[in-house]
Amino acid sequence: MRHFPVFVDLSNKRVVVSGAGECAVAKLRLLLRTEADIHVFGADPVDVVRDWADAGKITLTSRALQNDNITESVLFYAANDDAAEDARVAAIGRGVSQLTNIVDNLDDSQFITPAIVDRDPVTVAIGTEGAAPVLARKIKQQVEESLPANLGILARIGQAFRPAADALPMGRKRRDFWSRFYFNAGPRALDRGGKIAVQETLNHLLDDALNTRAASGRVHLMGAGPGDPELLTLKARNLLHEADVVIHDQLVSAPILELARREAIVVETGKRGFGKSWKQDDINALMIKHAAQGHHVVRLKSGDPVIFGRLDEEMDALSNAGIPFDIIPGITSASAAAASIGQSLTKRGRNSTFRILTGHDVDGFADHDWRALAKSGSTAAIYMGKRASRFLAGRLLMHGADSAIPITIVENASRADQHILSTSLGALPDLMDQVALDGPAIILLGLAPRAALDAIDTLEEQEFA
Ligand code: SAH
Repeated sequence: MRHFPVFVDLSNKRVVVSGAGECAVAKLRLLLRTEADIHVFGADPVDVVRDWADAGKITLTSRALQNDNITESVLFYAANDDAAEDARVAAIGRGVSQLTNIVDNLDDSQFITPAIVDRDPVTVAIGTEGAAPVLARKIKQQVEESLPANLGILARIGQAFRPAADALPMGRKRRDFWSRFYFNAGPRALDRGGKIAVQETLNHLLDDALNTRAASGRVHLMGAGPGDPELLTLKARNLLHEADVVIHDQLVSAPILELARREAIVVETGKRGFGKSWKQDDINALMIKHAAQGHHVVRLKSGDPVIFGRLDEEMDALSNAGIPFDIIPGITSASAAAASIGQSLTKRGRNSTFRILTGHDVDGFADHDWRALAKSGSTAAIYMGKRASRFLAGRLLMHGADSAIPITIVENASRADQHILSTSLGALPDLMDQVALDGPAIILLGLAPRAALDAIDTLEEQEFA
């Protein structure tokens, strides 16, 4: 980001514009919305500039800008529509370290003026660093449409009410009060009875809020899906928007965490490598601590929390502490892996059973019904199976599995860096030694990528015979 957006207080501050033609008019129209003390210099002012001067809105000097005209101004615009004159006055500006904008000359300007949506005191500034004015206009149009015209009035009344609303405890209760006002009761009151009705509504809402007991906290044990933020459920997205605290596993992807509010406390558990490693008891204690303070806690797990999510330990801890909770399912990584290779996990005539396995459990490599798994046509999704793959393949072959059984490994399913490896049971262990996958991976037993793969255009396949 080259240009850092700020909102500058221009009330009673001197702003100088060099130029009094059409190019200056465009900037003056914006500046006239402020309370700035505007000084315009230009030998040949157009009518509208003269009118503004006659009406006392600006101070006009009908000659070219001189050396000492810029001093003490906060902003300086070179808007002469003449490159040589702009360069001359910009040099004057630089000489006195004046923040200067040369209209339509991004490179030599020290600041630029964004596109603005004005619902004073709510102001939205849109900038593209000069890259795409068309885009800025389009966004401005969309924002204009999405913000009610009377938002400014509500915000002004709301602003004056802030000291009274400070009687509410900070955090969720105060936030809920304001969001009821701005998005629900406030606009309706304004339509119904104007400013007086808005004021009454604020008083009612505050009484209500002061008289209800502190909301109790709760925990949402929630699935984040396999990584693609579009694979979040709507419920998960809404709860993330509202959460006070987000406690997430390491596998939850960054674009999903971005959906949390900026003020939310976000804690990552389960760091590997040099980071702190979290014990389950510590995670439980953290959830309970925040929920007991009345916070809405989202405990975010990759995929679906009901699959290899250590859910029961967390539910037991919450129940014992008397904290209410609910479970929000997510799309499990096996579903995303199957989708990525164009296969279903069950198929008429092929398999009527589908198994979900882990490569590891508390005792190390997990034991399974190998004989059933080894049968032709059996399918399974193996979670946490990367390091167990030699053990898994050995057990299956020992129990009579055909070494040609197809195996597909999907790493980072649904993410931008998704990677698909197609192989056979016999070749699996050597392949895993060879490729060293960094990301989480699902091993699909008995499933090869669909033959007509070109139908799945996102597929990026690598064949290992
Ligand atoms: N609750 C999760 C599973 C947690 S166990 C779910 O329903 O998906 C962690 C294992 O999940 C990883 O070792 C890996 O096998 C699998 N996994 C999680 N996200 C994945 C992804 N995006 N792609 C492939 N496998 C994934």
